[in-house]
Amino acid sequence: MDIKQNRLDREFLRHQDEYEQKALEVLRSAWYVLGKEVRAFEEEFAQYMGAKHCIGVASGLDALWIAMHLLGIGQGDEVLVPGNTFIASVMGVSRNGATPVFVEPNEYDTLDAAKLEEKLTPRTKAVMVVHLYGQTCDMEQICAFTKKHGLKLIEDCAQSQGAKWNGRYTGTFGDTGCFSFFPTKNLGCFGDGGGILTDDSDLAEKIRMFRNYGSSQKYVNPMEGTNSRLDEIQAGLLRIKLKYLKALNEERQEAAAQYLSQIRNPLIQLPKIVPGGESVWHQFVIHVKNRDGLAAYLSKNGVQTLIHYPIPPHMQEVYQYLNVPQGSLPITEQAAREVLSLPMYNGITAQEITAVAELLNAWKGEDDA
Ligand SMILES: *Cc1c(COP(=O)(O)O)cnc(C)c1O
Repeated sequence: MDIKQNRLDREFLRHQDEYEQKALEVLRSAWYVLGKEVRAFEEEFAQYMGAKHCIGVASGLDALWIAMHLLGIGQGDEVLVPGNTFIASVMGVSRNGATPVFVEPNEYDTLDAAKLEEKLTPRTKAVMVVHLYGQTCDMEQICAFTKKHGLKLIEDCAQSQGAKWNGRYTGTFGDTGCFSFFPTKNLGCFGDGGGILTDDSDLAEKIRMFRNYGSSQKYVNPMEGTNSRLDEIQAGLLRIKLKYLKALNEERQEAAAQYLSQIRNPLIQLPKIVPGGESVWHQFVIHVKNRDGLAAYLSKNGVQTLIHYPIPPHMQEVYQYLNVPQGSLPITEQAAREVLSLPMYNGITAQEITAVAELLNAWKGEDDA
């Protein structure tokens, strides 16, 4: 058996002709950065998600820090972020000189809204939610909290393209919805890419200038900016992928449903879906006490798994200056010891899922039998 945790070839091969035609078209157009493909993708993505504006940028990290910078978040400000997230969520805050303040996750592996209040200080300026693993946060509770306290709300949607909370897409609840189009994401391009959604036209205009050296028009610069642009090839390829996003997410939902119905092992805790949420299953993440033993057992039997994420941000060297000691976020730290991401990708077959489920059901808790 040889089942990878993730693979991109199967989806690519399905629409290979379309992708190759578009890449050729852009190459032959002799226009490669900020052109008609980017404009068209921005319009199509905003419309799809139900937002007024989309601004393409160079990566998910850029989407996060640029959005927060232009929302006025910087030195002296605190931003509430989930303790269990990818490091880039936290860097989006710290890059701006603001202080990340970690909030523990709930049973759905997303930020526990009930624990926001206790982390609130006079310096709190914003909340960043991360719709981790494709699972939506409880946006009703979170929006009520940010509204009550006059805080900005930033959504990290790098893993949740197409996920819905009560019928509405993630990325449209906050002041900004920040997306990554890194190849492994549900809506991935063929290199780096990112995007910011917002309904605020002034903010959209500022982001549009900021991503391009702060220029309002060529060689006219009202503000200092950066260079963070989505390029024409990536935007063109994303336009194709976007047409299939719904079907791609439904395919993942079917794969997840199959895992959920076939895995029966009391040692394994299956992922739970938050009421009101619709997950797009960026990852299928189980919790297991002897996680490393299970990973070794699966690996020995030809099934690759990954850990999202083995070291929580507050325990990373880079964030030691925050003085959040080991032991202070017990739920986050336990998750880092116990989470395991099973194979999940577009094009995974029913046979592959059954093979993984059967291996899991045969596991008795040993290290690598
Ligand atoms: C991938 C990811 C990012 C960063 O996106 P890049 O495009 O790689 O910069 C941020 N947050 C989360 C939750 C991610 O999964």
